[in-house]
Amino acid sequence: MSDSLMPRSFTRFHGIVRASRRFQPPRHTGHPQEYLQMVDADTTSFVRTFRLKVKAESYGWLNAAAVEANQVWNWANATSIDAADRNRRANAKFLSGFDLCNLSAGATAYFERIGADTIQRICCEYAVKRRAAKRVRLRWRVSRGARRSLGWVPFKAASVKRKGVGLRFCGKFFRVFEAARLDGVKWRDGCFAQDSVGDWFLCLPVIVRPDVTVAPRESVGIDLGLKDIAVTSDGERLEAGRWTHAYAEKLANAQRRGHKRQAKRIHRKAARCRADALHKFSRKIIDQYQNIVVGDVSSLKLVKTRMAKSVLDAGWGALKNQLAYKSEHAGRRFEVVDEKYTSRACSSCGSLSGPKGVNGLRVREWTCSECGDSHDRDVNAARNIVTVGLRSRASVRGNESSHVVIPAEQAAASAVARHGQGAQHAAA
Ligand SMILES: [Zn+2]
Repeated sequence: MSDSLMPRSFTRFHGIVRASRRFQPPRHTGHPQEYLQMVDADTTSFVRTFRLKVKAESYGWLNAAAVEANQVWNWANATSIDAADRNRRANAKFLSGFDLCNLSAGATAYFERIGADTIQRICCEYAVKRRAAKRVRLRWRVSRGARRSLGWVPFKAASVKRKGVGLRFCGKFFRVFEAARLDGVKWRDGCFAQDSVGDWFLCLPVIVRPDVTVAPRESVGIDLGLKDIAVTSDGERLEAGRWTHAYAEKLANAQRRGHKRQAKRIHRKAARCRADALHKFSRKIIDQYQNIVVGDVSSLKLVKTRMAKSVLDAGWGALKNQLAYKSEHAGRRFEVVDEKYTSRACSSCGSLSGPKGVNGLRVREWTCSECGDSHDRDVNAARNIVTVGLRSRASVRGNESSHVVIPAEQAAASAVARHGQGAQHAAA
């Protein structure tokens, strides 16, 4: 088709793709869509994202479709930048998803694989991301070379149909693993997404009804730590590092030999083992307890560690996240409380007789000088955490600091100070 017949908005299409290579755009790290659990706004139901592996026979088609999706994304970026250019246009504006969808009308004719629904989803996703980033432009999606973006082909809910043992999308038949999980479920707009190893997954957000039950035991406190990722007030532990150590040597070998693909596979394996352990632990907690209180991690714990902060953060964050959504799903009460003083206070008598400071982190067990009880450091902290959590009425979801364990004499002193101030104010 000659250039003159193409819609005006699409004439620059291939130029943009070339330009993206010339610009050396920064590496695209994440998918444009995130697959987190979230609460449905209008009802009490939840949206959970099923992530099903696509059988390898479809990888070729999906890789080609991803290149087309990248072209649409880059066109949306170019069009949006152009429309917002105040130097060239008097009526400069930021295009909404609706505007971009309108401008892309008729573009399906230029693509072999993707359809109008995918193009529109990319336009809307682009507009949302651009607004969230508060920037004039987003990164270009790269289709080739070492810095290529991970493949992403979004679609609307209605354009994927269940058929036989698989699914039908864009006139093509897809087989996925665990297809039986799709029986009788209603899904929303989803996508095909590629991971760093190159495998493709079908990501389908499905609506799930909450399954509220009553747990056999009442309350538990969880102390997040370094040696053990989590310790409960009943002394249960989730050990850290086993999966990391098990794969560290293999990973080093693969990297030394320059086997990049193998290294990525080992990374993926380690991440899956970690996620599996966290899921099993959080499931066990949810099944057992009605009230779940987690201590917020203090920076003190991060001072003395050889592990990367991000690794620990990821583990703690993932665990808190899982506990939060699983609690919501099962009708449990979940809380995050400030863990200030929780490792120093004695859980039996409340005096601040425990180890303190960075050096105190080495102390695993100690005996209270006031009441003589001996404590395991982490279990004691977890017990204090559950006490703090039960004392507070309102649930603290974020990182707000409140509900601190304060020893009796300090609390009395601060109360006096407050009253004193009040008296001064009254006098003034
Ligand atoms: Zn004591």
